[in-house]
Amino acid sequence: MRANCWMGKKKLSVEHVPDPQILNARDAIVKITATTICGSDLHLYNGFMPTMQKGDILGHEFMGEVVELGKAVKNLKVGDRVVVPFCIACGNCESCQLGNFSCCENSNPTGWMPEKLMGHATCGAFGYSHLTGGFAGGQAEYVRVPYADFGPLKVPSTLTDEQVLFLSDIFPTGYMGAENCEITPRKVVAVWGAGPVGQLAIASARLLGAERIIAIDRFPYRLRLALDKAGATDVINYEQENVQEALLELTGGRGPDACIDCVGLEAHGTGLQYAYDSTKQKLQLQQDRPIAVREAILACRSGGIVSIMGVYAGFVDKFPLGSLMNRGLTIRTGQCHVHRYMKPLLERIVRGEIDPSFVVSHHMNLDDTPKGYDLFMHKQDDVMKIILRS
Ligand code: NAD
Ligand code: ZN
Ligand code: ZN
Repeated sequence: MRANCWMGKKKLSVEHVPDPQILNARDAIVKITATTICGSDLHLYNGFMPTMQKGDILGHEFMGEVVELGKAVKNLKVGDRVVVPFCIACGNCESCQLGNFSCCENSNPTGWMPEKLMGHATCGAFGYSHLTGGFAGGQAEYVRVPYADFGPLKVPSTLTDEQVLFLSDIFPTGYMGAENCEITPRKVVAVWGAGPVGQLAIASARLLGAERIIAIDRFPYRLRLALDKAGATDVINYEQENVQEALLELTGGRGPDACIDCVGLEAHGTGLQYAYDSTKQKLQLQQDRPIAVREAILACRSGGIVSIMGVYAGFVDKFPLGSLMNRGLTIRTGQCHVHRYMKPLLERIVRGEIDPSFVVSHHMNLDDTPKGYDLFMHKQDDVMKIILRS
């Protein structure tokens, strides 16, 4: 089959590789009908996630058709149309029983690696380095799906791929980011990053009834989409305005009730802070550029909530712990517990409450995936989500 392979930092190649095989009784083989590129893939592409190996197949947001099933998978049939969650979860362990599926204790065969870096193992994930199990990803023609009796969600034929594909990752991620904020009708929420995850966090905050939603980014086309389609009420272009001052002005001097970081470890910035973080990251003195999360903490109203959905890899410097502690902030974060949200969010799509396909901007052939990464990384041609098909 053809698959998009990581060949080194900023090097991708669509290669012919062996077809995946059923290895365990709970596996399925899924023929990919639509996949896409996530902001998290950029962290691998740009070499910020350790433990990538040459030839690793990327991709963790995908859907397709079941073509083969292991003996123990009784809830699916060959021919079913399914969306597959990016995190791999067994459904049985203590964490899965608690609904914390991205903390599954059984799905990561290389859990000893994150244990060293993070204190405990993380779950397995598709196409996301050897820290998360080294599983082949879904930017390919076929993929092996472990625990297929638990993860994949059957989707109705009345909905298009574009409407349901993002249930695999960014829609639940944006929704969890908003749900973390304990939104009630009078709440003001600020969202850093108006990429696809930020757009769906904004749309979810809207769905949950926030009164005011402020989107922060530097790309006018992304801020425009946030206003026109996602449901933001205000936008701040951080290259033109001081974010802290603009937020105080918009919130009667108090700061937003909740702040969502949808930026992550490759945050961009201006001035000395950006130079400092970039240099430390290059020298590997810190793994992440925590510019957005620092700003979110300092901007949040006292007693408020900071919801971190942007991905971070390791250790950071100049973290405003004093502000966090003294002002009684709550931090909520995590790789999204996708399995928790897929079904209720599918029901919202079916009821017409939301249509996440508004983030789709491009369609490409799987063979052009490397071009898609370049476009998405440089935010050219008003790119948001690129749908890839073989
Ligand atoms: P993206 O690269 O398209 O979007 C990031 C946006 O942040 C860009 O529009 C960029 O201009 C903006 N930005 C950069 N620096 C900023 C700053 N200082 N202030 C405000 N905005 C800034 O990526 P995406 O697909 O939207 O993903 C966003 C983040 O979410 C990534 O870190 C990704 O890894 C993470 N993610 C997390 C989960 C999870 O489960 N927690 C799931 C999916 C994606
Ligand atoms: Zn992702
Ligand atoms: Zn589990």
